[in-house]
Order: sequence, then C-alpha cells, then structure tokens
Amino acid sequence: MALQLADLNGVGPRMQEKLAHLGVGAVEDLLFHLPLRYEDRTRMHAIGSLRPGTRVLIEGEVQHSAVVRARRAMLVVVLSDGTGRITLRFFHFRAHQKNQMTRGARLRCFGEVRAGYQGLEIIHPHYSRLTPGREPPVADRLTPIYPSAEGLGQNTWLRLTDQALKALAQGKLELEELLPEAMTRNMKLPSLADAITYIHRPPPDADINALIERDHPAQHRLAMEELLAHNVSMQRLHRRQRARNAPTLDAASPEESRFLQNLPFQLTGAQQRVRDEIFSDLSQPHPMLRLVHGDVGSGKTVIAALAALRAIGNGHQCAIMAPTEILAEQHFRVFGEWLKPLDVSPVWLSSKVKGKKRQEALAALAGGAPVAIGTHALMQEGVDFAALGLVIVDEQHRFGVHQRMALVEKGSAGQTCPHQLIMTATPIPRTLAMTAYAGLEVSVIDELPAGRKPITTVAVGNDRRAEVITRVAAACGEGRQAYWVCTLIEESDAIQAQAAEAVAEELGARLADLQVGLVHGRMKAAEKLAVMSRFERGEIHLLVATTVIEVGVDVPNASLMIIENAERLGLAQLHQLRGRVGRGDLQSSCVLLYTPPLGDLARQRLDIMRQTGDGFRIAEKDLELRGPGEVLGTRQTGMLQFRVADLARDAHLLHRIPAVSESLLNHHPEQVDLLIRRWVGDAARFAGV
Ligand code: ADP
Ligand code: MG
Repeated sequence: MALQLADLNGVGPRMQEKLAHLGVGAVEDLLFHLPLRYEDRTRMHAIGSLRPGTRVLIEGEVQHSAVVRARRAMLVVVLSDGTGRITLRFFHFRAHQKNQMTRGARLRCFGEVRAGYQGLEIIHPHYSRLTPGREPPVADRLTPIYPSAEGLGQNTWLRLTDQALKALAQGKLELEELLPEAMTRNMKLPSLADAITYIHRPPPDADINALIERDHPAQHRLAMEELLAHNVSMQRLHRRQRARNAPTLDAASPEESRFLQNLPFQLTGAQQRVRDEIFSDLSQPHPMLRLVHGDVGSGKTVIAALAALRAIGNGHQCAIMAPTEILAEQHFRVFGEWLKPLDVSPVWLSSKVKGKKRQEALAALAGGAPVAIGTHALMQEGVDFAALGLVIVDEQHRFGVHQRMALVEKGSAGQTCPHQLIMTATPIPRTLAMTAYAGLEVSVIDELPAGRKPITTVAVGNDRRAEVITRVAAACGEGRQAYWVCTLIEESDAIQAQAAEAVAEELGARLADLQVGLVHGRMKAAEKLAVMSRFERGEIHLLVATTVIEVGVDVPNASLMIIENAERLGLAQLHQLRGRVGRGDLQSSCVLLYTPPLGDLARQRLDIMRQTGDGFRIAEKDLELRGPGEVLGTRQTGMLQFRVADLARDAHLLHRIPAVSESLLNHHPEQVDLLIRRWVGDAARFAGV
C-alpha cells in the first residue's frame, strides 16, 4: 500500500487538517509543495558592508541592549563585528530573549537590512546565540523557504519534505512522468524526481544565482509542466464548453442596419472584421467563445452592441456584465440611447438595486426582456433568464473564470448554453494570453478610429502643482474638460473619498470660474450617475475622481487628465486611466503628478508612459517590472498563481506548450487529469474541469 501522510513522523489528525487546507492531502503533494524562494545563509557578511534591501547572514557582539518604551515596549539591540554596527529591533519578545542578548553576547543573525532612523537595522532577525569555540558551521547550501500558513512553521515543512524526499529516493514513492519524453530529451531537462529533489534541497555546489533567479534547468522542468497543466486545464474547460450546443443566431435583422445608420461614424476596418468573425461564430450551433482584444478607445462597445442586436433579432436575450458600477452604468446609458430607436430598453441590475426595483428587474429577465446590463449581480442567485443566448463580459481581466462561467450557467439547459463574448482592453502579452485565455478564439481590434491624436504625456513634480492648476484653468477656459484623479493606495474607500473631497474643495476654491464635480466609490449610484451625466453634458468642467473612473468611462470632450501620485500606480492602471482622454478628435494630454524623489521602478514606469501610448508595449514592460498577477489586475483569481513558473522569465518556454497540450488532450486524457490534479488542483474544480 502506498505511503500515506499519516505514516510520516509528526503528522497527526490536527496536522493533517492543516495540511489539507493548503491542498496537501498526500505525500506526493508534499513534493509539489515547492519552496517559494531561497535564502542564502552560506555567506557571512561584514556588517560594515551591508546595503539596505538585502537579506544577509551576520555575526557580531552585542554592544548595547535595552527595552525602549515607545507606543509599546520594544527590545533594541546594537550589534558590532568591528567593521560596523547594526540595530536589531524586536517588537515582540520574551524575557528570556532579553536575557540572551545582553552586552557581550555573540549572536549570529539572518534578516533583511533596512535603513532605519539611526542607521541600518534588522527587524525581527532570526538569531542564535553563539558559545565561543563551539560556533556551528555556516550552512553549506541554500535554505528553502516554503509558502505556509498559520501554525505551520518552516521547520515543519523541512521535516515533512525531508521524509517525502527520502521516500522518493528509496523508491517508496513514485512520481509519474507526465511530460512527453521527446520534450524533456529535446530540451535536455532533468527527470521529474531529480528536478523535485534539486529544488527542495539544492546541493552545496548548486548555481545559487540561477536558482534564486528561477533560471535553473530543474526549475525549467517544473515550470514547463506547470504551464502545460494550466494550459490544458483552460483548454479542456473551453473545449467542453464548445462541445455543447448553442442557439444558432444567424438571421440578420433590419435593426442592425438601422443601428449602423444612426451611428455618427463608420466602423473601422478592424471593427468590421471583428464583427464578421463574431457573426460567423454566432451562426454556429455550438457556443462562441471569443475574446475581443483592443486597446483602450479602439471601439469595442459598438461591437458588443452589434452582437447583442444579433441575439435579440434571433429571439434571444443578451446579458452584458461589467466589473465596476460606473462602467456598467455607462453601458446602460449608451445602450439605452442606441437601442431606443429600436424600441428596446435594457434592464439594469447591480447589487444596489434592491427591494421592489429588484423584483421588477428579475421578473423582466425571467419574462424574456431582451437586454440585461449590470455588474456581478447578474450572475448571482435568484437571477433567471427566459432565453439567454449571449453573454458579454467587458473588461474580463477584472473577473475570474468562474464568474464568467456562473453567468453562462444561467443560460444553460442540459447540453445547451449561451454564446460568450469576452472583451478586454488590458493588452495582454502573447505569452500571458496563451495561458490565461487558452482555448478561446481571439479577435484583435488593432486600429483606432480615424482622427485620434496621440496623447501627450508629461511627468511633473508636485512642487509645480500651481502651474498644473493654471493649465487646467486654461484648458477649461477654451471649452475643454478635464479629469483630476486622486489616487491613494491600500487605503479604505472612505479615506479615498475624503482625499478626493479635499482636493475637489481645494480646486473648487482656486478655480472659482469653473464647475468642479466630484465622483468617488462611496457615493450612491444615483449620485454618481448624476455627476457623470452632468460631466458628459459639459455642465461640469473639471471632474475630480478616485480611480473609480479607471475602466471604460467615455467622455470624448475631456482632453486633459491629471493623475496625482502617479508614481504609486502600476502601468496597467496608468494606461487605463489615461485612456479616458484622447477619445475624441481633440489633442489630449496627461499630466503625471508625482512626489519627488522618485524610486527607480517608479521612474521607469513614468518614463515608459511618457514614451508610448501603445498598450502592448506598456503591458510587456509591466510584465517585466512586476509579473503577471499585476498585469491582469489584483482581483485575478488563483488561476495565475504559479508555483514555479514565471511568465516573464519563462516566456521562452511557452511556444512549446500549445502543440504538447493539443496532443495530450487528444491522445492522453488520463495524463491530463493527473497534470491538472498535480498543478492546478482545487482551482480547477470550480467548473468541473
Ligand atoms: P473601448 O474599446 O475602450 O471600449 P469605446 O467602445 O468606449 O472604446 O469607444 C471609444 C469611443 O470611440 C466612443 O466614444 C465610441 O463611440 C467611439 N467610436 C467607436 N468606434 C468608432 C469609429 N469607428 N469611429 C469613430 N469613433 C468611434
Ligand atoms: Mg470599453
């Protein structure tokens, strides 16, 4: 019988329960519980040579030790090794620790060096007190650091993985090779067992830099498998969807041509092409699964409207889901106007629609109302459709896959399900798309409407704020409109709202001739709506806003945007925000106000924003600077939390994935199950993958 978790030393029922929470249910899972990173405790550093931001091993003698009473008691220890001094700071400590670290004691410490008030310091270092003459040797290999949770310390992980690795070495546990042999041979990759062992316990002669940079063949071996697992899991989900039935929406209606005639513009070539691709999908008896990808301002909304009209014209309902209330409201307004001449009025649903209004909305949808527009509320329980034929998800990167699937399920009956149109403006580098959107058809709107002028972007220090305000006054004096975006990171909605209120007051006082409006996340939906429509009608000249206006908002006459504290925002967010201007034929500009001094990363971000308006270049740079979780937005689901893979670093591995993925899905479905179980685990269960 195979080795069980319970057979390991130190694993009782309580431990098993804790492990289960982290998805570890078998000894094999322990082997795939991989170190998050490594610490290099092999080299002793001279205290005089330390730099902030590094994690280092040091040794020295306690010069001074005292409990300092600030807001709460804190133990402060000064350590010296003759080359320099450093402060160790403990916010939590026990009496015996204080007694261990008295003057003259020798300590070995490991921790992150920071620049403190009085020179360099380490907060809560790992430390041990040394007995002269009996100092233990310095580690001869990298120390693995495991991802963990409350109640499971690093020592526990070391003990458990030690046992699992031993079982593997002794042949008591076997790991099935799931990568095709030809692939591992071609790429000269180590076997799975070797790679796993190496990563858990790098030998003393390991290439430390390669490992820390995740650029070791053992890591490539696992990254390859992990990327493949995610790819097959998405592919299979989408294949299963596609194998279902869907209503054929093939009849063109006179409403479509009337709609086009009423538009004040002609579709661009790219829009026409994408529309045709969508129409061709919709006319099939199987569900469309199409991602429409177009930079901010490329005109995805009309495409959505045309798809909606096609569904309605064929007697089906269409649901349009957007990630923020403001964007959903805007769609509601725009669609409302576009569809009015055709005698269609959309039904509005958000979590703020309650009571009788909600009952009415639900009754309308259940009764077959043609168009529903709203937020997450659309996919929640209690919402039923009579004949949902098309689901449109805008700015998909803000939703998880399971949310999209939940909405799709509302239109499903047995083998039949609705078509899906997914729209995103977040330009996704190809490498990322191959993983995040594996198995979706992709259409790209790669052309902006004619007459758009590139946005001029400048970065300006906060010390020139007065100049910027004068510039706003001048622009608005000429009849143009402007946004002033207040950003605060990691603060509550309430604090953001207060900050924006304060700025609105300041600007209102300084720009007495202008109408200054304010919109933030704490306002009631109706208030927001009222402000946004006044801005749209030009009654408000300057709109002070929090980042609630980030996605989708469309007011073509607004041609100037000021972004405060731009240095704190990520590139994806800056690009989205800036996309609110440059939407008409006016020359637009964007001022990135920052508080000096700029850090290195922040400078790089502002530089790239000044240099280009091309969302793809910005996204590539973003991926390079920050990694994929951020490119897709923080609200991403666990789907892209990789254990070893790194989409920026492993981009060179990705081109091999699709062919292998295809062959596994077609010829080795049992391997697909194992791969997904091994690497994707619970995350895949949401949709019965
Ligand atoms: P996004 O792709 O960012 O969602 P929108 O659909 O909001 O872009 O379109 C941006 C603006 O461009 C809107 O005001 C829209 O009416 C307008 N627009 C869309 N297509 C065209 C076109 N072919 N010619 C001119 N303007 C267009
Ligand atoms: Mg849009």
